[in-house]
Amino acid sequence: MGLGEFERIDRFFAPLSQGAGGAFGLTDDAALLPEAADGSAWVVTVDALVAGVHFLPDDPPDLVARKALRVNLSDLAAMGAVPYGYTLALALPKGLPDPESWLEGFARGLRADQDRYGIHLLGGDSVSTPGPVTLSITAFGSVARGGELRRSGASVGDDLWVSGTIGDAALGLGVLQGTLRVSAADAEILADRYRLPEPRVALGPALVGLATAGLDVSDGLVQDAGHIAERSGVALRIEAAAVPLSPAVRRCIDSSDPLRHDALSGVLTGGDDYELLFAAPPASRDRVSEAAAAAGVQVTRIGRVEDGRGVRVMAEDGRPLQGLERGGWNHF
Ligand SMILES: [Mg+2]
Repeated sequence: MGLGEFERIDRFFAPLSQGAGGAFGLTDDAALLPEAADGSAWVVTVDALVAGVHFLPDDPPDLVARKALRVNLSDLAAMGAVPYGYTLALALPKGLPDPESWLEGFARGLRADQDRYGIHLLGGDSVSTPGPVTLSITAFGSVARGGELRRSGASVGDDLWVSGTIGDAALGLGVLQGTLRVSAADAEILADRYRLPEPRVALGPALVGLATAGLDVSDGLVQDAGHIAERSGVALRIEAAAVPLSPAVRRCIDSSDPLRHDALSGVLTGGDDYELLFAAPPASRDRVSEAAAAAGVQVTRIGRVEDGRGVRVMAEDGRPLQGLERGGWNHF
């Protein structure tokens, strides 16, 4: 006989709420959020993950926990918000062989990233399900009122920037699924980027007042760029050669000529990057670079905002790249 619900909460989850006074040690019916700092607003976001859809059923539970937290932190960063805390709803299969050890690993992953990002568990619920492991995290952060980064503010003439490197996670998924063969060292680098994204929690808030529009790239660079174009009523032009690639991704694209186009489109349209894509006026270039340096994140100008509609990706010969229309990430 395993632990009951209250014992599970006591043992695995209540310790994660220490440090957030309004969580009352998870002993009450709900939690209190503190007053937002003067002139700030609360920002809230939710993400659900299902085993077999968003992660592999035998993925280590600590990694599942950290990825679930990080995709939420990435959405907060995309709004320019500083993270504060989160709530968790967890559904475990009735037939899970060893739920206590799964929960122990899961809680260990939450603890690691709570410490890393300075956040706390505020509340939650755990249930059993006839289906696969399913979890949902709701994250709270704060941003100076009116400073939130929307998708809708890009203006013609703005530069288009992206943080970090693009395509690692998409190729990492290919490695994990066995559809992409690379060296063992590159396989590990790419798979790690898929398993554990790095939310740009310092960069997002640093872009408040600088970026005119932004979002986090979760469904693929081209597809997510399309959201900015649509919401802002502009066209985005991306120079393919300017898109920042890690050495592992570059080796992948260069390694096989017949596959070159496929690898490049996989990079430009694959998902799970969790980098920030944003627009900012050319007059802010120096300040954007300084903000990124202070946040310890590389940023790269990859194109610009133009009159019109949609997203155009230009090849090195100056012609639009074809075959990206079906771009975007498909659940496996
Ligand atoms: Mg997002």
